Amino acid sequence: MQAFLSENPMPIRPAKGKKFETHVRVVVVGGGAAGLTAALAARDGGADVIVLERDHTPRGSTSMSQGNICAAGTKSQRDYGVKDSGAIFAADIMALTKGQTDARLARAFADASGPTIDWLVEKHAIPLALDTDWGARLGHSRSRIHAVPSKTGTELINALVNACERAGVDIVTDARVVDLYADAEQRIKGVRFVRPDGSADDVGCDALILACCGFGANRAMVKKYIPEMADALYHGHEGNEGDGIQWGMNLGAAVADMTAFQGLGALADPHRVLIHYNLVLQGGIIVNVKGKRFADESKDISGMGRRVTAQPRHVAWFIYDKKRHDFCTKYVEYQEAMDVGAIREAKSTAELARIAKLPVDVLRRTLSDVVGRQTGKIKTKDPLGRDFRQDDPLEGPPWYTVRVCGALFHTQGGLVIDEHAQVCRPDGARLPNLFAAGGTARSTSGPSDWGYIPAAGLFTATTQGRLAGEAATRLTRSSAARAAE
Ligand SMILES: Cc1cc2nc3c(=O)[nH]c(=O)nc-3n(C[C@H](O)[C@H](O)[C@H](O)COP(=O)(O)OP(=O)(O)OC[C@H]3O[C@@H](n4cnc5c(N)ncnc54)[C@H](O)[C@@H]3O)c2cc1C
Repeated sequence: MQAFLSENPMPIRPAKGKKFETHVRVVVVGGGAAGLTAALAARDGGADVIVLERDHTPRGSTSMSQGNICAAGTKSQRDYGVKDSGAIFAADIMALTKGQTDARLARAFADASGPTIDWLVEKHAIPLALDTDWGARLGHSRSRIHAVPSKTGTELINALVNACERAGVDIVTDARVVDLYADAEQRIKGVRFVRPDGSADDVGCDALILACCGFGANRAMVKKYIPEMADALYHGHEGNEGDGIQWGMNLGAAVADMTAFQGLGALADPHRVLIHYNLVLQGGIIVNVKGKRFADESKDISGMGRRVTAQPRHVAWFIYDKKRHDFCTKYVEYQEAMDVGAIREAKSTAELARIAKLPVDVLRRTLSDVVGRQTGKIKTKDPLGRDFRQDDPLEGPPWYTVRVCGALFHTQGGLVIDEHAQVCRPDGARLPNLFAAGGTARSTSGPSDWGYIPAAGLFTATTQGRLAGEAATRLTRSSAARAAE
Protein backbone atom coordinates (compact mmCIF):
# COMPACT_ATOMS: atom_id res chain seq x y z
CA MET A 1 0.00 0.00 0.00
CA GLN A 2 1.47 3.38 -0.96
CA ALA A 3 0.83 6.30 1.32
CA PHE A 4 -0.11 9.91 0.74
CA LEU A 5 2.01 11.81 -1.80
CA SER A 6 2.04 15.48 -1.05
CA GLU A 7 3.41 16.72 -4.37
CA ASN A 8 0.20 16.01 -6.31
CA PRO A 9 -1.73 18.78 -8.00
CA MET A 10 -5.57 18.75 -7.80
CA PRO A 11 -5.74 20.82 -4.66
CA ILE A 12 -8.05 20.53 -1.69
CA ARG A 13 -9.37 23.93 -0.62
CA PRO A 14 -10.33 24.74 2.98
CA ALA A 15 -14.09 24.76 3.38
CA LYS A 16 -14.01 27.04 6.44
CA GLY A 17 -16.22 30.05 5.85
CA LYS A 18 -17.25 28.84 2.39
CA LYS A 19 -20.97 29.18 1.57
CA PHE A 20 -22.51 27.11 -1.23
CA GLU A 21 -25.55 28.58 -2.89
CA THR A 22 -26.43 25.26 -4.46
CA HIS A 23 -26.37 22.09 -2.39
CA VAL A 24 -27.20 18.45 -3.17
CA ARG A 25 -26.85 15.37 -1.01
CA VAL A 26 -24.63 13.43 -3.37
CA VAL A 27 -22.23 14.79 -6.00
CA VAL A 28 -20.68 12.37 -8.47
CA VAL A 29 -17.59 13.34 -10.45
CA GLY A 30 -17.50 11.57 -13.84
CA GLY A 31 -20.27 10.35 -16.12
CA GLY A 32 -18.98 6.91 -17.17
CA ALA A 33 -20.36 3.53 -16.11
CA ALA A 34 -19.23 3.98 -12.50
CA GLY A 35 -20.60 7.49 -12.07
CA LEU A 36 -23.93 6.86 -13.78
CA THR A 37 -24.50 3.60 -11.89
CA ALA A 38 -23.63 5.33 -8.62
CA ALA A 39 -26.07 8.12 -9.43
CA LEU A 40 -28.86 5.63 -10.21
CA ALA A 41 -28.30 3.87 -6.89
CA ALA A 42 -28.27 7.15 -4.97
CA ARG A 43 -31.47 8.23 -6.70
CA ASP A 44 -33.11 4.87 -5.95
CA GLY A 45 -32.27 5.52 -2.30
CA GLY A 46 -34.05 8.86 -2.44
CA ALA A 47 -31.07 11.21 -2.57
CA ASP A 48 -30.88 14.23 -4.81
CA VAL A 49 -27.79 13.65 -6.93
CA ILE A 50 -25.83 15.53 -9.54
CA VAL A 51 -23.26 14.07 -11.96
CA LEU A 52 -20.54 16.48 -13.12
CA GLU A 53 -18.94 15.40 -16.39
CA ARG A 54 -16.13 17.25 -18.13
CA ASP A 55 -17.13 16.23 -21.66
CA HIS A 56 -19.90 17.72 -23.73
CA THR A 57 -21.66 14.35 -23.63
CA PRO A 58 -20.96 11.47 -21.27
CA ARG A 59 -18.66 8.99 -23.00
CA GLY A 60 -15.62 7.99 -20.97
CA SER A 61 -13.71 4.80 -21.58
CA THR A 62 -17.10 3.14 -21.11
CA SER A 63 -18.18 4.31 -24.57
CA MET A 64 -14.95 2.96 -26.12
CA SER A 65 -15.41 -0.45 -24.53
CA GLN A 66 -17.16 -3.51 -25.88
CA GLY A 67 -19.63 -3.24 -23.02
CA ASN A 68 -18.72 -6.65 -21.58
CA ILE A 69 -19.39 -6.98 -17.85
CA CYS A 70 -18.52 -10.05 -15.82
CA ALA A 71 -20.87 -10.89 -12.99
CA ALA A 72 -21.82 -14.01 -11.05
CA GLY A 73 -25.21 -15.44 -10.07
CA THR A 74 -27.33 -13.40 -12.48
CA LYS A 75 -30.79 -14.31 -13.67
CA SER A 76 -29.47 -14.39 -17.21
CA GLN A 77 -26.87 -17.00 -16.24
CA ARG A 78 -29.60 -19.09 -14.64
CA ASP A 79 -31.68 -18.82 -17.83
CA TYR A 80 -28.75 -20.45 -19.65
CA GLY A 81 -28.31 -23.07 -16.92
CA VAL A 82 -24.98 -21.63 -15.74
CA LYS A 83 -24.38 -22.36 -12.05
CA ASP A 84 -22.26 -19.60 -10.59
CA SER A 85 -21.87 -17.63 -7.38
CA GLY A 86 -19.86 -14.83 -5.79
CA ALA A 87 -17.74 -17.46 -4.03
CA ILE A 88 -16.78 -19.14 -7.33
CA PHE A 89 -16.11 -15.80 -9.05
CA ALA A 90 -13.98 -14.57 -6.14
CA ALA A 91 -12.00 -17.82 -6.19
CA ASP A 92 -11.32 -17.26 -9.92
CA ILE A 93 -10.10 -13.72 -9.20
CA MET A 94 -7.80 -14.94 -6.43
CA ALA A 95 -6.40 -17.70 -8.67
CA LEU A 96 -5.71 -15.35 -11.59
CA THR A 97 -4.08 -12.71 -9.38
CA LYS A 98 -2.03 -15.41 -7.61
CA GLY A 99 -3.56 -14.27 -4.36
CA GLN A 100 -2.21 -10.75 -4.81
CA THR A 101 -5.44 -8.82 -4.38
CA ASP A 102 -7.58 -8.25 -1.30
CA ALA A 103 -9.54 -11.51 -0.86
CA ARG A 104 -12.23 -9.94 1.34
CA LEU A 105 -12.94 -7.19 -1.19
CA ALA A 106 -12.81 -9.57 -4.16
CA ARG A 107 -15.49 -11.65 -2.44
CA ALA A 108 -17.60 -8.62 -1.51
CA PHE A 109 -17.55 -7.22 -5.05
CA ALA A 110 -18.05 -10.66 -6.65
CA ASP A 111 -21.07 -11.26 -4.37
CA ALA A 112 -22.52 -7.86 -5.33
CA SER A 113 -21.89 -8.27 -9.07
CA GLY A 114 -24.89 -10.49 -9.92
CA PRO A 115 -27.42 -8.39 -8.00
CA THR A 116 -25.97 -5.30 -9.72
CA ILE A 117 -26.64 -6.69 -13.19
CA ASP A 118 -30.13 -7.90 -12.21
CA TRP A 119 -30.92 -4.47 -10.72
CA LEU A 120 -29.68 -2.66 -13.86
CA VAL A 121 -31.82 -4.94 -16.03
CA GLU A 122 -34.97 -5.04 -13.95
CA LYS A 123 -35.10 -1.63 -12.34
CA HIS A 124 -33.40 0.47 -15.01
CA ALA A 125 -34.07 -1.42 -18.25
CA ILE A 126 -30.39 -1.74 -19.24
CA PRO A 127 -30.59 -4.60 -21.77
CA LEU A 128 -27.77 -6.77 -20.41
CA ALA A 129 -27.69 -10.53 -20.96
CA LEU A 130 -25.16 -13.33 -20.77
CA ASP A 131 -22.94 -13.46 -23.88
CA THR A 132 -22.30 -17.17 -24.31
CA ASP A 133 -19.67 -16.57 -27.03
CA TRP A 134 -17.08 -15.92 -24.33
CA GLY A 135 -17.58 -19.22 -22.51
CA ALA A 136 -15.62 -20.16 -19.42
CA ARG A 137 -12.02 -19.21 -20.06
CA LEU A 138 -9.24 -16.70 -19.54
CA GLY A 139 -9.59 -17.07 -15.79
CA HIS A 140 -13.38 -17.36 -15.68
CA SER A 141 -14.35 -20.88 -14.66
CA ARG A 142 -17.97 -20.12 -15.61
CA SER A 143 -19.58 -18.32 -18.52
CA ARG A 144 -20.26 -14.94 -16.83
CA ILE A 145 -19.65 -12.12 -19.32
CA HIS A 146 -22.77 -10.05 -19.91
CA ALA A 147 -23.27 -7.51 -22.69
CA VAL A 148 -25.83 -5.27 -24.34
CA PRO A 149 -27.20 -6.57 -27.68
CA SER A 150 -24.83 -4.62 -29.95
CA LYS A 151 -21.84 -5.49 -27.72
CA THR A 152 -20.71 -1.88 -27.78
CA GLY A 153 -19.87 0.57 -25.04
CA THR A 154 -21.80 3.25 -26.90
CA GLU A 155 -25.05 1.35 -26.43
CA LEU A 156 -24.20 0.76 -22.77
CA ILE A 157 -23.45 4.40 -21.98
CA ASN A 158 -26.51 5.62 -23.87
CA ALA A 159 -28.70 3.17 -21.96
CA LEU A 160 -27.24 4.40 -18.65
CA VAL A 161 -27.72 8.05 -19.60
CA ASN A 162 -31.35 7.36 -20.55
CA ALA A 163 -31.91 5.48 -17.29
CA CYS A 164 -30.49 8.45 -15.35
CA GLU A 165 -32.80 10.79 -17.18
CA ARG A 166 -35.81 8.60 -16.34
CA ALA A 167 -34.72 8.40 -12.70
CA GLY A 168 -34.32 12.16 -12.35
CA VAL A 169 -30.52 12.28 -12.06
CA ASP A 170 -29.14 15.66 -12.99
CA ILE A 171 -26.19 15.21 -15.40
CA VAL A 172 -24.26 18.44 -15.90
CA THR A 173 -21.89 18.24 -18.85
CA ASP A 174 -19.04 20.56 -19.90
CA ALA A 175 -18.30 20.65 -16.19
CA ARG A 176 -14.76 19.75 -15.17
CA VAL A 177 -14.36 19.53 -11.44
CA VAL A 178 -11.14 21.30 -10.46
CA ASP A 179 -11.26 21.75 -6.68
CA LEU A 180 -12.68 19.97 -3.68
CA TYR A 181 -13.55 21.84 -0.48
CA ALA A 182 -12.88 19.95 2.75
CA ASP A 183 -12.95 20.75 6.45
CA ALA A 184 -10.18 19.95 8.92
CA GLU A 185 -11.38 16.31 9.21
CA GLN A 186 -11.23 15.88 5.41
CA ARG A 187 -15.02 15.93 5.22
CA ILE A 188 -15.94 17.08 1.70
CA LYS A 189 -18.24 20.09 1.78
CA GLY A 190 -18.46 20.81 -1.92
CA VAL A 191 -16.68 21.07 -5.26
CA ARG A 192 -15.85 23.69 -7.86
CA PHE A 193 -16.27 22.96 -11.56
CA VAL A 194 -15.26 25.03 -14.57
CA ARG A 195 -17.02 25.44 -17.91
CA PRO A 196 -15.25 25.51 -21.29
CA ASP A 197 -15.62 29.34 -21.32
CA GLY A 198 -13.64 29.53 -18.06
CA SER A 199 -16.57 30.38 -15.80
CA ALA A 200 -16.73 28.47 -12.51
CA ASP A 201 -19.54 27.21 -10.28
CA ASP A 202 -19.54 25.76 -6.78
CA VAL A 203 -21.88 23.10 -5.46
CA GLY A 204 -22.09 21.88 -1.89
CA CYS A 205 -22.70 18.22 -0.96
CA ASP A 206 -23.06 15.81 1.95
CA ALA A 207 -21.09 13.06 0.19
CA LEU A 208 -18.84 12.89 -2.83
CA ILE A 209 -18.34 9.96 -5.20
CA LEU A 210 -15.20 10.06 -7.34
CA ALA A 211 -15.89 8.18 -10.57
CA CYS A 212 -13.45 9.89 -12.92
CA CYS A 213 -11.58 6.72 -13.91
CA GLY A 214 -7.84 6.10 -13.73
CA PHE A 215 -4.72 7.88 -14.92
CA GLY A 216 -4.10 6.39 -18.36
CA ALA A 217 -4.21 9.81 -20.03
CA ASN A 218 -1.74 11.33 -17.55
CA ARG A 219 1.67 10.63 -19.06
CA ALA A 220 3.57 11.74 -15.95
CA MET A 221 1.61 9.34 -13.73
CA VAL A 222 1.95 6.47 -16.22
CA LYS A 223 5.72 7.09 -16.35
CA LYS A 224 5.91 7.11 -12.57
CA TYR A 225 3.76 4.07 -11.79
CA ILE A 226 3.85 1.94 -14.96
CA PRO A 227 7.18 2.82 -16.58
CA GLU A 228 7.05 -0.27 -18.83
CA MET A 229 4.04 1.32 -20.62
CA ALA A 230 5.35 4.90 -20.60
CA ASP A 231 5.96 4.86 -24.36
CA ALA A 232 3.04 2.64 -25.28
CA LEU A 233 0.01 3.95 -27.07
CA TYR A 234 -2.85 4.91 -24.71
CA HIS A 235 -6.20 3.85 -26.13
CA GLY A 236 -8.56 4.94 -23.37
CA HIS A 237 -10.59 8.09 -22.78
CA GLU A 238 -8.44 11.23 -23.01
CA GLY A 239 -10.17 12.83 -20.01
CA ASN A 240 -8.94 10.21 -17.56
CA GLU A 241 -6.04 12.14 -16.09
CA GLY A 242 -6.08 10.69 -12.60
CA ASP A 243 -7.88 13.66 -11.01
CA GLY A 244 -9.83 11.54 -8.53
CA ILE A 245 -6.81 9.52 -7.44
CA GLN A 246 -4.79 12.69 -6.91
CA TRP A 247 -7.52 14.33 -4.82
CA GLY A 248 -7.78 11.19 -2.74
CA MET A 249 -4.03 11.11 -2.15
CA ASN A 250 -4.05 14.78 -1.21
CA LEU A 251 -6.75 14.02 1.35
CA GLY A 252 -4.53 11.33 2.89
CA ALA A 253 -6.18 8.30 1.28
CA ALA A 254 -4.26 5.11 0.62
CA VAL A 255 -3.65 3.93 -2.92
CA ALA A 256 -2.73 0.40 -4.00
CA ASP A 257 -1.76 -1.58 -7.09
CA MET A 258 -0.79 1.59 -8.95
CA THR A 259 1.35 -0.59 -11.23
CA ALA A 260 -1.71 -2.53 -12.47
CA PHE A 261 -3.33 -2.02 -15.84
CA GLN A 262 -5.15 -3.66 -18.72
CA GLY A 263 -3.28 -3.81 -21.97
CA LEU A 264 -4.40 -5.40 -25.21
CA GLY A 265 -2.55 -6.37 -28.35
CA ALA A 266 -5.63 -6.17 -30.55
CA LEU A 267 -5.83 -2.67 -31.92
CA ALA A 268 -5.87 -2.52 -35.74
CA ASP A 269 -2.77 -0.65 -36.85
CA PRO A 270 -2.81 2.14 -37.90
CA HIS A 271 -6.64 2.36 -37.85
CA ARG A 272 -7.02 2.11 -34.04
CA VAL A 273 -10.14 -0.04 -34.24
CA LEU A 274 -10.42 -2.72 -31.58
CA ILE A 275 -10.42 -6.22 -33.09
CA HIS A 276 -12.56 -8.67 -31.14
CA TYR A 277 -10.35 -11.16 -29.35
CA ASN A 278 -12.83 -13.97 -29.95
CA LEU A 279 -11.14 -14.26 -33.36
CA VAL A 280 -8.08 -15.59 -31.62
CA LEU A 281 -9.87 -17.48 -28.86
CA GLN A 282 -11.87 -19.38 -31.49
CA GLY A 283 -8.68 -20.66 -33.14
CA GLY A 284 -6.93 -17.74 -34.82
CA ILE A 285 -3.25 -17.08 -34.19
CA ILE A 286 -0.93 -14.09 -33.81
CA VAL A 287 2.46 -13.87 -35.52
CA ASN A 288 5.17 -11.23 -35.50
CA VAL A 289 6.81 -9.66 -38.56
CA LYS A 290 9.12 -12.70 -38.75
CA GLY A 291 6.06 -14.90 -39.31
CA LYS A 292 6.44 -16.61 -35.92
CA ARG A 293 4.08 -16.99 -32.99
CA PHE A 294 5.55 -15.55 -29.82
CA ALA A 295 3.07 -16.35 -27.02
CA ASP A 296 0.17 -18.55 -26.00
CA GLU A 297 -2.42 -16.25 -27.54
CA SER A 298 -5.28 -17.89 -25.66
CA LYS A 299 -3.97 -16.88 -22.24
CA ASP A 300 -3.57 -13.56 -20.47
CA ILE A 301 -5.07 -11.29 -23.12
CA SER A 302 -4.23 -8.22 -21.05
CA GLY A 303 -0.55 -9.21 -21.08
CA MET A 304 -0.67 -9.40 -24.90
CA GLY A 305 -0.51 -5.59 -24.96
CA ARG A 306 3.00 -5.70 -23.53
CA ARG A 307 4.01 -8.72 -25.60
CA VAL A 308 2.89 -7.26 -28.94
CA THR A 309 4.59 -3.96 -28.09
CA ALA A 310 7.81 -5.88 -27.42
CA GLN A 311 7.83 -7.48 -30.91
CA PRO A 312 9.99 -6.17 -33.75
CA ARG A 313 8.41 -2.98 -35.13
CA HIS A 314 5.93 -3.18 -32.19
CA VAL A 315 3.23 -4.83 -34.32
CA ALA A 316 1.85 -8.31 -35.00
CA TRP A 317 -0.63 -9.98 -37.38
CA PHE A 318 -3.81 -11.84 -36.48
CA ILE A 319 -4.26 -14.74 -38.92
CA TYR A 320 -7.48 -16.74 -39.26
CA ASP A 321 -9.80 -18.31 -41.80
CA LYS A 322 -13.18 -17.58 -43.38
CA LYS A 323 -15.12 -19.39 -40.64
CA ARG A 324 -13.70 -17.09 -37.91
CA HIS A 325 -14.00 -14.08 -40.20
CA ASP A 326 -17.71 -14.81 -40.78
CA PHE A 327 -18.22 -15.34 -37.04
CA CYS A 328 -16.81 -11.91 -36.23
CA THR A 329 -18.79 -9.95 -38.83
CA LYS A 330 -21.57 -9.70 -36.22
CA TYR A 331 -19.40 -7.31 -34.15
CA VAL A 332 -19.90 -3.63 -34.97
CA GLU A 333 -16.19 -2.91 -34.52
CA TYR A 334 -15.20 -5.72 -36.86
CA GLN A 335 -17.50 -4.22 -39.50
CA GLU A 336 -15.80 -0.89 -38.89
CA ALA A 337 -12.38 -2.54 -39.31
CA MET A 338 -13.58 -4.03 -42.60
CA ASP A 339 -14.91 -0.66 -43.73
CA VAL A 340 -11.57 1.08 -43.14
CA GLY A 341 -9.68 -1.68 -44.95
CA ALA A 342 -7.90 -3.07 -41.89
CA ILE A 343 -9.07 -6.64 -42.59
CA ARG A 344 -7.27 -8.16 -45.58
CA GLU A 345 -8.19 -11.32 -47.47
CA ALA A 346 -5.55 -13.56 -49.10
CA LYS A 347 -6.39 -16.27 -51.62
CA SER A 348 -3.22 -18.22 -50.82
CA THR A 349 -0.51 -18.43 -48.17
CA ALA A 350 1.88 -16.76 -50.64
CA GLU A 351 -0.52 -13.85 -51.01
CA LEU A 352 -0.93 -13.66 -47.23
CA ALA A 353 2.85 -13.42 -46.89
CA ARG A 354 2.94 -10.69 -49.55
CA ILE A 355 0.18 -8.64 -47.90
CA ALA A 356 1.71 -8.85 -44.45
CA LYS A 357 5.32 -8.74 -45.73
CA LEU A 358 6.13 -11.93 -43.84
CA PRO A 359 8.76 -14.49 -44.89
CA VAL A 360 6.65 -17.06 -46.76
CA ASP A 361 8.62 -20.15 -45.71
CA VAL A 362 8.44 -19.30 -42.02
CA LEU A 363 4.75 -18.46 -42.36
CA ARG A 364 4.02 -21.81 -44.04
CA ARG A 365 5.84 -23.63 -41.24
CA THR A 366 3.92 -21.67 -38.56
CA LEU A 367 0.55 -22.42 -40.17
CA SER A 368 1.25 -26.10 -40.76
CA ASP A 369 2.47 -26.47 -37.17
CA VAL A 370 -0.71 -24.88 -35.82
CA VAL A 371 -3.05 -26.86 -38.09
CA GLY A 372 -1.11 -30.04 -37.27
CA ARG A 373 -1.77 -29.47 -33.58
CA GLN A 374 -5.42 -28.50 -34.15
CA THR A 375 -6.07 -31.68 -36.17
CA GLY A 376 -4.15 -33.82 -33.69
CA LYS A 377 -1.48 -34.85 -36.26
CA ILE A 378 1.24 -33.23 -34.16
CA LYS A 379 1.09 -34.71 -30.71
CA THR A 380 3.93 -32.91 -28.95
CA LYS A 381 3.20 -29.98 -26.63
CA ASP A 382 3.12 -26.54 -28.21
CA PRO A 383 6.42 -24.91 -27.11
CA LEU A 384 4.47 -21.74 -26.28
CA GLY A 385 1.98 -23.72 -24.19
CA ARG A 386 -1.25 -23.25 -26.15
CA ASP A 387 -3.64 -26.16 -26.14
CA PHE A 388 -4.90 -26.31 -29.73
CA ARG A 389 -6.84 -29.53 -29.31
CA GLN A 390 -10.07 -27.74 -28.43
CA ASP A 391 -10.03 -25.57 -31.59
CA ASP A 392 -11.78 -26.21 -34.84
CA PRO A 393 -8.81 -26.57 -37.22
CA LEU A 394 -8.03 -23.48 -39.35
CA GLU A 395 -9.17 -24.04 -42.93
CA GLY A 396 -7.39 -21.53 -45.11
CA PRO A 397 -6.95 -20.39 -47.79
CA PRO A 398 -8.56 -18.01 -48.05
CA TRP A 399 -6.78 -16.46 -45.10
CA TYR A 400 -7.74 -13.29 -43.32
CA THR A 401 -5.36 -11.01 -41.53
CA VAL A 402 -5.17 -7.72 -39.68
CA ARG A 403 -2.11 -5.89 -38.36
CA VAL A 404 -2.39 -4.99 -34.68
CA CYS A 405 -0.43 -3.01 -32.13
CA GLY A 406 -0.40 -3.13 -28.34
CA ALA A 407 -1.81 -0.41 -26.13
CA LEU A 408 -2.52 0.61 -22.57
CA PHE A 409 -6.31 0.56 -22.24
CA HIS A 410 -6.92 1.54 -18.65
CA THR A 411 -5.15 1.60 -15.32
CA GLN A 412 -6.29 -0.68 -12.50
CA GLY A 413 -4.69 0.78 -9.39
CA GLY A 414 -6.28 3.54 -7.38
CA LEU A 415 -7.81 4.66 -4.12
CA VAL A 416 -8.21 1.97 -1.51
CA ILE A 417 -11.90 1.50 -0.72
CA ASP A 418 -13.85 -0.73 1.64
CA GLU A 419 -16.68 -3.10 0.71
CA HIS A 420 -19.07 -0.11 0.51
CA ALA A 421 -16.70 1.78 -1.80
CA GLN A 422 -15.83 4.29 0.92
CA VAL A 423 -12.28 5.62 0.61
CA CYS A 424 -9.78 4.52 3.30
CA ARG A 425 -6.61 5.96 4.78
CA PRO A 426 -3.41 3.88 5.02
CA ASP A 427 -4.38 2.82 8.59
CA GLY A 428 -7.74 1.49 7.30
CA ALA A 429 -9.84 4.32 8.79
CA ARG A 430 -12.45 5.75 6.40
CA LEU A 431 -12.48 9.27 5.09
CA PRO A 432 -15.72 10.78 6.43
CA ASN A 433 -17.83 11.11 3.27
CA LEU A 434 -15.67 10.23 0.27
CA PHE A 435 -16.41 7.28 -2.04
CA ALA A 436 -14.68 6.00 -5.18
CA ALA A 437 -15.73 3.59 -7.91
CA GLY A 438 -14.53 2.23 -11.24
CA GLY A 439 -11.14 3.30 -12.55
CA THR A 440 -10.59 5.72 -9.65
CA ALA A 441 -10.66 2.89 -7.10
CA ARG A 442 -8.24 0.04 -6.74
CA SER A 443 -9.54 -2.85 -8.82
CA THR A 444 -9.32 -6.59 -8.13
CA SER A 445 -6.52 -7.21 -10.65
CA GLY A 446 -3.47 -7.45 -8.39
CA PRO A 447 -0.28 -5.54 -9.08
CA SER A 448 0.28 -5.99 -12.84
CA ASP A 449 -1.45 -6.72 -16.16
CA TRP A 450 -1.67 -10.51 -15.87
CA GLY A 451 -4.28 -10.41 -13.10
CA TYR A 452 -6.93 -8.64 -15.17
CA ILE A 453 -9.86 -11.01 -15.54
CA PRO A 454 -11.77 -10.20 -18.77
CA ALA A 455 -14.56 -7.65 -18.36
CA ALA A 456 -13.38 -6.64 -14.88
CA GLY A 457 -13.26 -2.93 -15.78
CA LEU A 458 -17.01 -2.66 -16.11
CA PHE A 459 -17.64 -5.25 -13.38
CA THR A 460 -15.89 -3.02 -10.84
CA ALA A 461 -17.29 0.19 -12.37
CA THR A 462 -20.92 -0.95 -12.11
CA THR A 463 -20.64 -2.93 -8.87
CA GLN A 464 -18.55 -0.40 -6.95
CA GLY A 465 -20.70 2.36 -8.47
CA ARG A 466 -23.88 0.82 -7.08
CA LEU A 467 -22.28 0.16 -3.71
CA ALA A 468 -20.96 3.75 -3.54
CA GLY A 469 -24.33 5.23 -4.48
CA GLU A 470 -26.14 3.15 -1.87
CA ALA A 471 -23.63 3.84 0.90
CA ALA A 472 -23.44 7.58 0.17
CA THR A 473 -27.22 7.71 0.40
CA ARG A 474 -27.29 5.85 3.70
CA LEU A 475 -24.55 8.07 5.10
CA THR A 476 -26.30 11.28 4.16
CA ARG A 477 -29.80 10.22 5.22
CA SER A 478 -29.41 11.74 8.68
CA SER A 479 -28.13 15.07 7.34
CA ALA A 480 -31.05 15.16 4.87
CA ALA A 481 -33.47 14.50 7.72
CA ARG A 482 -31.85 17.27 9.79
CA ALA A 483 -32.18 19.70 6.90
CA ALA A 484 -35.86 18.80 6.47
CA GLU A 485 -36.63 19.55 10.15
C1 LIG B 1 -11.07 0.23 -25.98
C2 LIG B 1 -11.51 -0.26 -24.62
C3 LIG B 1 -12.29 -1.40 -24.53
C4 LIG B 1 -12.71 -1.84 -23.27
N1 LIG B 1 -13.56 -2.91 -23.21
C5 LIG B 1 -14.01 -3.30 -21.99
C6 LIG B 1 -14.99 -4.32 -21.88
O1 LIG B 1 -15.55 -4.80 -22.86
N2 LIG B 1 -15.33 -4.74 -20.63
C7 LIG B 1 -14.81 -4.17 -19.49
O2 LIG B 1 -15.14 -4.59 -18.38
N3 LIG B 1 -13.94 -3.16 -19.58
C8 LIG B 1 -13.55 -2.69 -20.79
N4 LIG B 1 -12.71 -1.63 -20.87
C9 LIG B 1 -12.43 -0.90 -19.62
C10 LIG B 1 -13.66 -0.08 -19.22
O3 LIG B 1 -14.05 0.70 -20.33
C11 LIG B 1 -13.36 0.79 -18.01
O4 LIG B 1 -12.82 0.01 -16.98
C12 LIG B 1 -14.64 1.45 -17.51
O5 LIG B 1 -15.29 2.10 -18.58
C13 LIG B 1 -14.34 2.44 -16.41
O6 LIG B 1 -15.52 3.13 -16.08
P1 LIG B 1 -15.41 4.51 -15.31
O7 LIG B 1 -16.79 5.00 -15.13
O8 LIG B 1 -14.55 4.32 -14.11
O9 LIG B 1 -14.59 5.47 -16.29
P2 LIG B 1 -15.03 6.22 -17.62
O10 LIG B 1 -16.05 5.48 -18.37
O11 LIG B 1 -13.77 6.55 -18.34
O12 LIG B 1 -15.71 7.55 -17.08
C14 LIG B 1 -14.95 8.52 -16.37
C15 LIG B 1 -15.51 9.87 -16.72
O13 LIG B 1 -14.96 10.85 -15.83
C16 LIG B 1 -14.81 12.06 -16.55
N5 LIG B 1 -13.87 12.91 -15.81
C17 LIG B 1 -12.55 12.70 -15.59
N6 LIG B 1 -12.06 13.69 -14.82
C18 LIG B 1 -13.07 14.54 -14.55
C19 LIG B 1 -13.18 15.76 -13.82
N7 LIG B 1 -12.15 16.31 -13.19
N8 LIG B 1 -14.39 16.39 -13.77
C20 LIG B 1 -15.48 15.86 -14.40
N9 LIG B 1 -15.42 14.71 -15.13
C21 LIG B 1 -14.23 14.05 -15.18
C22 LIG B 1 -14.32 11.61 -17.91
O14 LIG B 1 -14.55 12.59 -18.89
C23 LIG B 1 -15.14 10.33 -18.12
O15 LIG B 1 -16.33 10.60 -18.84
C24 LIG B 1 -12.29 -1.17 -22.10
C25 LIG B 1 -11.49 -0.03 -22.20
C26 LIG B 1 -11.11 0.44 -23.45
C27 LIG B 1 -10.29 1.68 -23.51
